[in-house]
Amino acid sequence: MSDTTRPNSWDARAKQNSFFGFTDLPSIEARGTTVLTHGEGPYVFDTQGRRYLDANSGLWNMIAGFDDPGLIKAAQDQYARFPGYHAFFGRISDQAVMLSETLVEVSPFESGKVFYTNSGSEANDTMVKMLWFMHASEGRPNARKIITRVNAYHGVTAVSASMTGKPYNSVFGLPMPGFLHLTCPHYWREGQSGESEADFLARLVAELEELIANEGADTIAGFFAEPVQGAGGVIPPVEGYFDAILPVLRTHNIPIIADEVITGFGRTGSVWGCESYGFVPDAIISSKALTAGYFPMGAVILGPDLSDRLQRATDIIEEFPHGFTASGHPVGCAIALASIDLVLNGGLLENVQRLIPRFETGLARLAQHDHIGEWRGRGLMGALEAVRDKSSKTPFESELSVSERIANTCGDHGLLCRPLGQSIVLCPPFIMTDAQMDEMFDKLSAALDQVFADVA
Ligand SMILES: *Cc1c(COP(=O)(O)O)cnc(C)c1O
Repeated sequence: MSDTTRPNSWDARAKQNSFFGFTDLPSIEARGTTVLTHGEGPYVFDTQGRRYLDANSGLWNMIAGFDDPGLIKAAQDQYARFPGYHAFFGRISDQAVMLSETLVEVSPFESGKVFYTNSGSEANDTMVKMLWFMHASEGRPNARKIITRVNAYHGVTAVSASMTGKPYNSVFGLPMPGFLHLTCPHYWREGQSGESEADFLARLVAELEELIANEGADTIAGFFAEPVQGAGGVIPPVEGYFDAILPVLRTHNIPIIADEVITGFGRTGSVWGCESYGFVPDAIISSKALTAGYFPMGAVILGPDLSDRLQRATDIIEEFPHGFTASGHPVGCAIALASIDLVLNGGLLENVQRLIPRFETGLARLAQHDHIGEWRGRGLMGALEAVRDKSSKTPFESELSVSERIANTCGDHGLLCRPLGQSIVLCPPFIMTDAQMDEMFDKLSAALDQVFADVA
């Protein structure tokens, strides 16, 4: 990376005035930043003209690749027509009205209402405030606790970071009180020795029942879950998970919110992750693929029960005192309408379904490696977990930074993929061809061989 040494290089400029989140600063000192200029299909290009296949769809969101003409045109046309508006005081853009209709229509709900935000984190925060507001108006001001799971990822704002079940948030003194985390439903890692998958599930259900009994059902505002945990390491739940825990939550009238920020709009092979797992939640949190990453936008999609109850709460309290200046931005809404159409009618969902067997075969092939402990995934989201010893599931020493080395080696060979803990995450754009998917696995396979030869 000779570019890093030149004083006015893009790399030097990027480091001078840009502050990087979720980035190991010593490693960008050593390896340099990657400054990107444009994309073509699933590829992106940096300032030095290098091309990378982006196996993570940007951050799970660029499902249509980086140069979709229909999405770009939808944005351009809407900018020319009406380039910005809010959704306060009963004013709203026509695009937002149309998008709400479409979102309810494609949702698993018979009726519903939509509230817009600029991100997934804000959508989760909004949902928590909605629950607090609703319970208070119904005479339960103490129903404030939020249940999520260890390794859940719900965002970075103070509330959504409190919902996130990752140890790194302790540097902020989070989670805030009242955010409760259940065991991660990952059988391979969390199952005890000799414990069957069914016994593991029974333990998780008992844990939930005990938590509700100890805390008091009337102190709990809601339960949030990603159908497949994404940024926690691509973790599909143990077999039968949602079927087993939903009745417990229903018995205690605890609202169930599906955080579909990653799984929404086709990632798991169905429109919604909850559809793939056969359940209907009380509300859906959407973002990321909602606009195919072409605009920052999130949405809370309320099912019929929560829509009615929030409407009543608002009647009692006068208004829901919440909203973002750019909520329901007409350009974002126009892009989302075009993107949903592309997924449902433009062949993207079909291509996901077509690619899934090839994706699973590729993951399973790489999992034969001596130092891959497990492959896991659902639809077009997958992970390979590196281990020092396969039979005992002993991880590599963390100082070795094995997954970072694998991802860096991939980068050297023109493939962008993401290290997460000791695993490598793949989350390809929905537009991939067979040849591009083969390129992805071939490059990753070569990187695994190279790095494992060094550390084993
Ligand atoms: C990315 C993500 C979020 C947060 O969305 P941002 O737009 O980054 O704020 C929330 N939930 C899940 C499941 C996510 O993957």
